[in-house]
Amino acid sequence: MHVVYVARDLWEAQLLLDQLIELWIKARIDNALSLGVYGELPYQASRPRVVVEREGDVARALRAVREFEARQQASVDGVRLCASCGDESPENFELCWKCGGELEPRG
Ligand SMILES: [Zn+2]
Repeated sequence: MHVVYVARDLWEAQLLLDQLIELWIKARIDNALSLGVYGELPYQASRPRVVVEREGDVARALRAVREFEARQQASVDGVRLCASCGDESPENFELCWKCGGELEPRG
């Protein structure tokens, strides 16, 4: 088990996890204990971590993390709705964070 990212919250961890799964990297979110105390997390250790299961995937996963961070830092003004499930994704996403479906055109 290899930690590739310590997320701010479960939402962010899930976004990254979806990206890794898209690349066929076997990964999961560790430390789901923090689920119940969403919001106030005093300890670094209680933040959700994204872990990769196979050593051979670590390098690819870290590359995906860097791309992910770059996207996270890009300014996001609005949201785009998913045509499939109706959930909101940040405006700079091409595909739905939740189901991977097509997003409505930028508004
Ligand atoms: Zn969707």
